Parts: sequence; C-alpha cells; structure tokens
Amino acid sequence: MDLDLSGKVAVVTGGSIGIGLGVARAFAREGANVLIAARDRERVVGAAAGLTQEFGVNVVGHACDVSTAAGCASLVEAARTDFGGADILVNNAGTGSNETILEAPDEKWQAYWDLHVMAAVRLARGLAPMMAARGGGAILNNASICATQPLWYEPIYNVTKAALVMLSKTMATEFIPQGIRVNTVSPGLILTPDWKKTATQLTADTGGDWEGYLQSVADEHAAIKRFGTVEELADFMVFLCSPRASYAVGGNYFVDGGMLRTI
Ligand code: NDP
Repeated sequence: MDLDLSGKVAVVTGGSIGIGLGVARAFAREGANVLIAARDRERVVGAAAGLTQEFGVNVVGHACDVSTAAGCASLVEAARTDFGGADILVNNAGTGSNETILEAPDEKWQAYWDLHVMAAVRLARGLAPMMAARGGGAILNNASICATQPLWYEPIYNVTKAALVMLSKTMATEFIPQGIRVNTVSPGLILTPDWKKTATQLTADTGGDWEGYLQSVADEHAAIKRFGTVEELADFMVFLCSPRASYAVGGNYFVDGGMLRTI
C-alpha cells in the first residue's frame, strides 16, 4: 500500500532513539522528510544523519527540550526555516515515572505535565497553522495504555498520559475544520533500548538473565506473551498519520498485544 507520504514533512519529538526513532525511520522509508527533536544534540544529529544516509530523504536533528516553551518555539522555528512548514506532528517524547502520590513533590507533577501535555499544546499552537496553510495535516500523540489501565507505581505518568488523551480528543474537534486529523496511540509493552537497559540493571545481581526478566513482564501483562517491536508500532503510527487513514479523527488506538483488560 502506498501511504502517499512522499515529500511530506513530519516532525517527531523524541526521535533520536526508541519508538520515536522507529517512527522517523518509517516516515523516511515512505519518502517523507523528517525533523526529529531530542535534548542530546550529538545523539539526535547522529540519528538524523543515519536516516538521511539510509533513505536519501532530508532528515534534520534538532536539539531542544520540548518540556519548555522556549524549546517548543525553537522546534517550530526549525520546521519553518529548514522545511518551510510541516504536514505531520508526532508528539512522542516522554518517559515513565516512579513515585507515590503522598511523597511526590509538586515540581515532579509540573515537569511531567510540561513534557506530556504542554509540549503537545505548544507544538500544536505553532505547527497547526502551518499545516492548515498547506491544506491540512495530521497530529498523533503517543500516550500509553497506562492512560487507561494504570500501573500502580507511576501515578504521575498515568495521570499526565490520560490528560494527553483528553487533549487529543478535544484538539481533534477543534482542528478538523482545518483538515488536521488528531489521534492518539496507546502502546503496551514495546521493546526499546531503555527496556533492555532497565532489565539488565534489575537482573545484574541475580545472574543477568535480562531476556528472562522481560519475558516474565510480557507473560504477566500481555495476552500475546511478548513485547511488541518498535517497527510493529511505528508502522501503525505512520499509517495513522498518512492520507490512507483519512477518516480516523479523534481516536485512541491501542497497540498492546491484548494488554488492555476492558473493552
Ligand atoms: P525512550 O526513553 O527510548 O526515548 C525517549 C525519547 O524522547 C528520546 O529521544 C529522548 O531523547 C526524548 N526526550 C525525552 N525527554 C525529552 C524532552 N524533554 N525534550 C525533548 N526530547 C525528549 O522512550 P520510548 O521510545 O520507550 O518511549 C517513547 C514514548 O512512548 C514515550 O512518550 C513513552 O511514554 C511512550 N510509551 C512507551 C512504551 C514502551 O514500552 N516503550 C509503552 C507506552 C508508551 P533525549 O533524552 O536526548 O531528550
């Protein structure tokens, strides 16, 4: 299936590693030009160069912190100056948390709110007018199954990702008259380098069977009894951003190997 993405411009936050890099790679493979953002300059510039070399499209790495207003403004400006605008925005930058509600300070709540919610607000404010001027576009927010089915140890993550789902829904209604489709994806267990690092650390003192540890996590949580690959998720996300998904508006799509226990 031709996704009709050739020559489009996609902005992907958190595009230097893990899911974001997989999404950027899938866009590049489809012939789209990509602006990827992350804080670590060396890693994001290196990732961009690798994709340009692999697919022959224009991929630019932009170092910024999207949890700040200034970081979002600089990314919007990069889209304007490097690409003359944008057609697609994937709000992917994010991270898990670990706390109790009784002990977590206000500052931690605020930091996750800024990263998971305000980045999507600020980038939409900057990029949606450019999309509208180009005849429409797509915004895809990467939430998590935890927005719907919380894990007990990360209340701040659960709450801020749930807020992102509601932001997407609300934004979808506001933006569709301009031809901009907004959707959410809610992944389950996706095997990224970060999961491997965590598993390696957790098993370091008990024999180092990190793969066995990950299998036990998958057995406990996912009906399919395995992690999803970055590619399995990225293909789905890129399809949702493509004109092939033209009637998908305001949805929240679970890509979770059966982890969600409700309908
Ligand atoms: P990784 O930790 O592997 O990658 C995170 C990416 O985001 C990196 O590129 C990182 O680069 C960037 N990033 C983090 N904070 C910021 C910031 N403040 N400003 C700009 N860039 C930032 O994460 P994953 O690939 O695992 O996850 C990606 C998204 O998917 C997250 O939103 C996560 O919540 C969600 N998700 C992941 C699941 C999984 O199983 N992996 C499951 C469900 C949802 P740098 O550090 O250089 O800034």
